[in-house]
Amino acid sequence: MFKIGLTGGIGSGKSRVADMLGEWGATLVDTDEIARALTAAQGAAMPAILREFGPQALAPDGALDRAWMRAQAFADPRVRQRLEAVLHPAIGRETERQAAAASGSYLVFVVPLLVESLDRWRSRVDRICVVDCDPETQVARVQQRSGLTEPDIRRIMAAQAARASRLEVADDVILNDATTSPEQLRARALTLHDRWLALATTTGR
Ligand code: ADP
Repeated sequence: MFKIGLTGGIGSGKSRVADMLGEWGATLVDTDEIARALTAAQGAAMPAILREFGPQALAPDGALDRAWMRAQAFADPRVRQRLEAVLHPAIGRETERQAAAASGSYLVFVVPLLVESLDRWRSRVDRICVVDCDPETQVARVQQRSGLTEPDIRRIMAAQAARASRLEVADDVILNDATTSPEQLRARALTLHDRWLALATTTGR
């Protein structure tokens, strides 16, 4: 099957693009969604999280306490590594499972940190598509969408790849900056969708 890796910084608009591609018939495998499901109440990773970090890592409903975990991980990189050691193999297995079960015209892996884990992803996808946005617009969008403060958002952005390093590895780019209307975004996404459908056919994958 023909495979796209879709990425972009926080607030770039990749979820919005992914939704459209899904609507047009692509199969989506979303690694963030997989991580969320694994760390929800009763999630498959929760027993391991409890063993690794103790009950303080759990919210009252038994899900991962994300705010607590984020604070710990930012304060101490070793905490982040321990969390990743628990989560990454589980995310990897579930990603492979969903990809193997996929049908549809082509497959889209939605991977927020694709460029940060390029070694893993480059050989797994036929094309890397970056949803590109300037940092100021990212901050404005995420502020509107969530309760995160501007310093929180900037800290998350600083831990992600820089705009230029994403663009460097992109095979396809969807510009979605402050000047981009939802209709323009849709038109840009549709252009790529058509290109990928054609490539999926000609490459016979
Ligand atoms: P990501 O998944 O990359 O974090 P989202 O797709 O969730 O980003 O987009 C971030 C926010 O900005 C969402 O609320 C989304 O609806 C909004 N948004 C994205 N692109 C546009 C656009 N071109 N015009 C208006 N709002 C947008």
